[in-house]
Amino acid sequence: NADMALYRAKRSENEHCLFFSHEMNAEAAARLSLEGDLRRALAQGDQLAVHFQVQYDVRTARPSGAEALVRWTHPTLGPIPASTIIAVAEDSDLIHELGDWVLRSALAHYAHWRQRGCPRLLIAVNLSAVQFRNRGLVERVLSVLREYGVPPEDLELELTESMLMQDVTQAIVLLEAISRAGIRLAIDDFGTGYSSLSYLKRFRVDRLKVDQSFVHNLGKEGNDSDNDAVIARAVINLGHSLGLEVIAEGVETQAQYEYLRAQGCDSVQGFLFARPEPADTVLGNLVPRASGDAGPA
Ligand code: C2E
Ligand code: MG
Ligand code: MG
Ligand code: MG
Repeated sequence: NADMALYRAKRSENEHCLFFSHEMNAEAAARLSLEGDLRRALAQGDQLAVHFQVQYDVRTARPSGAEALVRWTHPTLGPIPASTIIAVAEDSDLIHELGDWVLRSALAHYAHWRQRGCPRLLIAVNLSAVQFRNRGLVERVLSVLREYGVPPEDLELELTESMLMQDVTQAIVLLEAISRAGIRLAIDDFGTGYSSLSYLKRFRVDRLKVDQSFVHNLGKEGNDSDNDAVIARAVINLGHSLGLEVIAEGVETQAQYEYLRAQGCDSVQGFLFARPEPADTVLGNLVPRASGDAGPA
């Protein structure tokens, strides 16, 4: 990438192109140094954390699950966005280690919550494309579940449409294997990717996650809102017609929530209900008497 930019800059006397090459090099260098920092963070452990965002069952209004989201507080740069962490990890071999770390950490916290009297929840963990393609994924996940004594049914892996569409035949086989192991599957950011409806019915998944971009304008006035309302409703109906559950993410307002509930959306997740929070905060909210107990690191 940097080589290519340099090549283009050499060939061209165009100022803009030179500037562009500069930026590319700076970005490549930044990535490289972040990669080293992430490697150290993984070895050391205390800069990284998993936060949880609680999901709610619309019918009962009770917590039904929690999505694990990786957090990294860099010693000099401060908080690094999750999307950057994943991009840096995917550009290197670190994604395997990071993915394992997130899964272990999420299940360790959940096992601790359960010991403290927390009711059963669905723990949602995001998978990256690299992890999904990795052979032995199911065995690895099952062994971590066993290690923490968590039933496979309490874990939901989140995948995206593009991960599934990259190699449909392989995806179908992998989803079957994950599903047979008792682990749940969800399609994240549903509606934003290139999804084929004819494959959707062959993908063994349990739930669709309506992307937050369609939730954003719900309950507002105007054309954007109308279009998003049509899409959100269509995803809910499509999911239900295929026998799948539907959850909406990014719910920030009462109006968005009312619309989703009226359309029969099964669960919701968003700032209106809960932000992603450290494990001990979540435990304190779920089991008030257990608050103040930090649990596993
Ligand atoms: P995602 O899986 O779709 O996660 C939802 C994102 O939306 C999270 O951002 C969450 O903090 C944010 N969010 C939740 N509720 C609201 C809301 O009401 N309004 C708005 N505006 N945003 C909301 P986050 O934590 O920055 O993560 C971004 C993305 O990074 C995730 O999108 C996921 O694709 C990826 N990611 C995060 N953690 C992990 C991880 O452990 N492994 C992998 N492979 N990917 C991860
Ligand atoms: Mg997700
Ligand atoms: Mg999402
Ligand atoms: Mg997303």
